[in-house]
Amino acid sequence: MKYAQVRNYVGGGFVTADLPLIDVYDPRSGHVISRVPLSRGSEVDAAVRAAREALPAWSATPIKERVQIFFRYKTLLERDIDSLTALISEENGKIESEARAEILKSAELTEFACSLPQIASGEILEVSRGVECRVERYPVGVVAAITPFNFPIMVPNWSIPNALALGNTMILKPSEMVPLSAGRIAELLTEAGLPPGVLQVVHGGQETVEALCDHPDIAGISFVGSTRVAKIVYRRATSNLKRCLALGGAKNHLIVMPDANREMTAANVVASMSGCAGQRCMAASVMVAVSETDHIITRMVEHARKMVPGRDIGPVISPAAKERITRYIDEAEADGATVLVDGRKTTVAGHEGGFYVGPTILDHVRPEMAIAQEEVFGPVLAIIRAKDVDEALRIENASPYGNAASVFTESGGVARYVMEHASAGMVGVNVGVPVPREPFSFGGWGESKFGVGDITGRGSIEFWTQAKKMTTKWNQEAGVNWMS
Ligand code: NAD
Repeated sequence: MKYAQVRNYVGGGFVTADLPLIDVYDPRSGHVISRVPLSRGSEVDAAVRAAREALPAWSATPIKERVQIFFRYKTLLERDIDSLTALISEENGKIESEARAEILKSAELTEFACSLPQIASGEILEVSRGVECRVERYPVGVVAAITPFNFPIMVPNWSIPNALALGNTMILKPSEMVPLSAGRIAELLTEAGLPPGVLQVVHGGQETVEALCDHPDIAGISFVGSTRVAKIVYRRATSNLKRCLALGGAKNHLIVMPDANREMTAANVVASMSGCAGQRCMAASVMVAVSETDHIITRMVEHARKMVPGRDIGPVISPAAKERITRYIDEAEADGATVLVDGRKTTVAGHEGGFYVGPTILDHVRPEMAIAQEEVFGPVLAIIRAKDVDEALRIENASPYGNAASVFTESGGVARYVMEHASAGMVGVNVGVPVPREPFSFGGWGESKFGVGDITGRGSIEFWTQAKKMTTKWNQEAGVNWMS
C-alpha cells in the first residue's frame, strides 16, 4: 500500500487506536492505497475532550490573533499546492486541474476567514440618552463538521477557517472514502500555529457520525452530503438540542433558450455536467431545452465526444457509483430516452481497473423518469424538451431539491424572469456552475439544505457564533424609563 494506515488527529498529533479498518481506493486504478479506521463513541469522546480543553484559551484569544494562523495557513496551502493536488487526485480521482482548483478555492475560503475581524465586529448604538446597546459575537463552543467524498479539501475548508476563526474548536469527520487529505489539513494548520486541540480529525462512518450527533458536549454540527443522510443528521443533531446546518444532494436544471449563444452555452453545459465526473452538487443534471435548440445540442454532443477519459474526465468514486450511474442510463434508454453520447462502456488504457464513466447525454427524457427526478451524481445530462420558458420553470420547480439553476439566453428580461421564479438557492445566467464566490454565501433551498443560514461567507457567521446583547448605562444623568 502506498500510504500507511490513516490515523485520527487529536490534541495536536496523530493517535493510534485498535479499530476496524476499511480500504481506501485510488479510483483511477482501483488499487487500495491505504486503510482507514472506523472510530467509535470512545474516539469521539476523546476528541471532544481535547476540543473542550482547548476551548477556553482559544475562544479568549482575540480574533485578530486567531486569524494570523489562517493568513499562514493560506500561504501553506499555496506552498503545498502540487502535493495536495496530487493527493486529491489519488484518493478522489479528479483530474489535475480540478484537484488544483480545490486548493485555490480553499485559499479563497481562508482569505475570507482572515477578513472576519472586519466583518464580524459587532454593533453599537446609543439607544437613549446615556444608554448604549452593543452586540458581541461569541463562539458556539465545541462543534463538528461532517463532510462528503467529492471535495476532500474544499468542503472541509467551507467550515474549518470560519468556525475556528470565530473562536470555536472542532472535530472534523471526513468521508471514509477520501480520508488522507484531512490529515494534511490538520498538519498544515498545526504548522501554521494552530494550538493543540483546536482541530481534531476523527475518521469513520455511520457510527462515528451518530456519536457526534449524540455527544452532549458538541454544540453545533455542519454536514455536507446526500439528502438521505442530511435528513438523518439534521433530525438527530437537533433532537439532541444542537444547532445544525445540513447540506444535501441536488438535481440542478439548466434552462436553455433558443436565443442562447451557441458556443458559450454548449461549452458551459458540457463542462458543468462532466466536471469532476459529474460528482458536484452544483453540476448540471437536467437541461431543459426550450423550443428550437437543436443547433446547441449538436454542438454539445461534439464537445462531449471530444473528451478523453483519463485526461479530460476522471473516474467516479467507486464501482458501486459506476454501477448506479450505468443503471440510471440503462433504465432511461429502456424508457424511451435517446442516448446521444454514451459513456457506459468507458475504459482507460493502462487503468483498466479504474471506475470510469464517460460523459453521457440523453435526449427526449420525460419529467416523470427516474433519471429526471433523482440525483445520479455522475457525468450524465438528461435533456427534457419544453415549449416555452413557463413549462421549463414548471419542470424545474417540481424538483424537491433546490441547489442551483441557470438560464442561458441573450434576453435580460427572460434571464430576470428565470432568476425570480427558479426554486433554487443559487441561480445563474449563462453560467453552468453558479457557485457564489466569497464573501457571498453557499447554500441551497428545499431538500438541498436543512437549517438556517449558509455554510460559507457572511451567511456562516450567524451559524458559528451566538450573539450577546449588552445594555450599559454609565451616565449619571441618563433618565430612567420603562425601557432602560
Ligand atoms: P454521504 O451522504 O453518503 O456521506 C456524507 C457523510 O455522511 C460522510 O462523512 C459519511 O461517512 C457520512 N454518512 C454516510 N452514511 C451515513 C449514515 N447512514 N449515517 C450517518 N452518517 C453517514 O455523501 P457522499 O456520497 O460522501 O457525497 C455525495 C453527496 O454529497 C451528493 O449527494 C452530493 O450532492 C452531496 N453534496 C452536497 C453539497 C452541497 O453543498 N449541497 C456539496 C457536496 C456534496
